[in-house]
Formats: sequence, C-alpha cells, structure tokens
Amino acid sequence: MPRSISFLDLRAGQAEIEAELAAALERVLSSGQYLLGPELEAFEREFAAYCGVRHCVGVASGLSAIELTLRAAGIGAGDEVIVPAYTWVATWLAVSATGATPVGVDVLESTYNIDPEQAEASVTPNTAAIVPVHFRGEPADMAAIGAVASAHCLLVIEDAAQAHGAKHDGKRAGSLGDAGAFSFYPAKNLGALGDGGAVTTDDDELAAKLRLLRNYGMRDRYRIETAGVNSRLAELQAAVLRVKLPRLDAWNRARAALAEMYGRAFAGEAAIRMPQPPPWADPVWHLYLVGLAERDRCAGSLAARGIESLVHYPVLPHLSGAYGGDAARGSFPVAERLSAAALSLPLHPHLARTGCDAVAAALLDALSDTQ
Ligand SMILES: *Cc1c(COP(=O)(O)O)cnc(C)c1O
Repeated sequence: MPRSISFLDLRAGQAEIEAELAAALERVLSSGQYLLGPELEAFEREFAAYCGVRHCVGVASGLSAIELTLRAAGIGAGDEVIVPAYTWVATWLAVSATGATPVGVDVLESTYNIDPEQAEASVTPNTAAIVPVHFRGEPADMAAIGAVASAHCLLVIEDAAQAHGAKHDGKRAGSLGDAGAFSFYPAKNLGALGDGGAVTTDDDELAAKLRLLRNYGMRDRYRIETAGVNSRLAELQAAVLRVKLPRLDAWNRARAALAEMYGRAFAGEAAIRMPQPPPWADPVWHLYLVGLAERDRCAGSLAARGIESLVHYPVLPHLSGAYGGDAARGSFPVAERLSAAALSLPLHPHLARTGCDAVAAALLDALSDTQ
C-alpha cells in the first residue's frame, strides 16, 4: 500500500498551536460575549496593522466581504463590475448578490490573473468597479489595474481570499486597492474553524458603512439606519484567528519553501507548465498549480500512488449553472484552456519535505509513463 499524501492537513496546523487555541476558546467561552466583542475588535486591529491599512471590518465570509464592500460603495442594480474569468465562483456571485452585473474578463496566460488591457476594453459607462483576484496567492498586476481604475473612476476591490500576506512591490494584499476582501474559510492561508471574512481599507467612510451593513444596518441598539444583513465574524473565530495570525508569515514561508522544491524538481520539464510569478509579486502559494496537457490522466496516476490532487476549478464561473452554463463556452479562451490543464499539487505548511519530494517524483513518473 503506497503511503498517502493528502492535499491539505488542517489537523497538523491545529496541533502546532493546540495549547494556545484551547486557551483562546476558553477565554471566549467564559467571557459570556460571543458576537461583536473584544476578540473581534482586537483581531480587526491586528489584521489591519498586518495588512498595512487603517481599518479591518470582520464579516461572516469572503463572499460577504466582497458583496458588502460593493454595497457600501453604493454599487447595485444597473452597475457593471469587472471580474476575472478565472476565479472561484464567489467573486462573481458577490457581484450578482448586489444586483450589479459581473462582467467577466479573460486572464493572462502567464499569470492566470486578470488581463488589465482586456479589463480596460470592457469598461462601459455603467462600469463602477473592478474586482481583481490574487489567484493562487499571487498578486494581480495592481499597477496596471490601478491605472485603468483611475482613468475611468472605478473602485478597486481586491479579492484577496487566497492571498493573506502576499506582497505586490512590497505592499501587502488588502492595501493595494480601495478595499481588500478576505476569506477565513478553514483551508485558506489564514483560516478559522468555520466561516469568516474581513474587509481591509484606508477609507474611513467605507469602513463605517461596512460596520453598519454587517449588523442589520443598525447604528445603536434597535435603530436601523439602512437595510443591512447579518454578516458578523464570531468572537470564537476572531480568537482563533488571533492565535494564527502571528504564525501566518512563517506558514507562508513554509509554503514558499515547498513551492521552491517543486520548482527545482520540475525545472526543464517541458510537459509541466510551472508558476512564474512576475518580478513585483511576492506570492503566498495558496495553491501550487501546474498545467499539464494530460491533466486527468496525471491526476489518476497520482491518486493510484496515494497522492491527492485537486482541480481549481473544473468549472469556471461563466460556465457554471449560475451563469451561462455550457452555452457560454468559448467566451474566455485563455481561462478555459488554462483550467482544462490545471492541477493543484499538495502544498501546505505542514507538508514534510519528503512528502513534497514524493509528490514531485510521482508526477514525473506519471509523465514518463506516456512518453
Ligand atoms: C474562498 C474564496 C472566496 C470566498 O470565500 P468564502 O469565505 O468561502 O465565502 C472568494 N474568492 C476567492 C478567490 C476564494 O478563493
């Protein structure tokens, strides 16, 4: 029986901080306050400082972080919001949830991130915002996107759900646009023990509006100022995130070291399309995604060797049941081609170097099977 290597191991991450987690959970349990309390306030302060912005507003999920930021900026029905074709469907759904229309834009072959030129070509008089995604933890070209946004007066909301700690020219994701939206889904680089999210921003007014919207639009007790929602980051989750945040950089460095190992193992392999971060990007390797002509056969071959891999994403938003479905095939040829070849290899901070070696060897084996 080959030893098995799972794609992710969330328990290993928990084990490293077990005592501190237990203390944090106990602190919340005994506090008697489970929502909108001191843990959330402290986490918001700490995460804002980490990202290099003035404000962080905790919310219930990454999807909600994007949706509420758009709504706080007054974006809704009649507006268009530019989104990349290659992303998790939540980016698009968050736009749709406001009543605005997501306008997909194809990605760059070299980075899997939104193509700024095509984004500019998609601007219409109704375009209100652009939501670049730092897919796989690698920052999108924020200089070019910022130029498009200022030329057309568009709001820039980073979808930083995969990019906690990533840097663009030395500045952290979450500080690169008008606002940054984060997810703390357990499998993200910074994950809670359940759902969670946050918005980071330097905009005082936007932050104040978000605080209203996440809590029914309530200014003080029972005084509703605007139609908000229930989207709060629980005290328990904030306490867990406070234990993990001081580890984030070390965990991201561990990911980068493994990514480097994969890079060395695959160097010169023409059959493997490897990630090539642009010079200004300091990625956090949420995913180690390679491109393989025979993706499904390779995934099967890895599985036969006990190695779990995943496809991010087998169905792009525009081809999903939420949008065009199969009839929309061909709309974004680059994204469609990249996604057909995409395979994410196991990579997490607690993956042993021997495990990484075994995955690399198995993939090279799988490739030579056909040659
Ligand atoms: C995970 C993710 C989201 C959504 O986050 P949730 O917390 O699951 O709502 C949005 N965008 C991207 C790119 C993601 O990876």
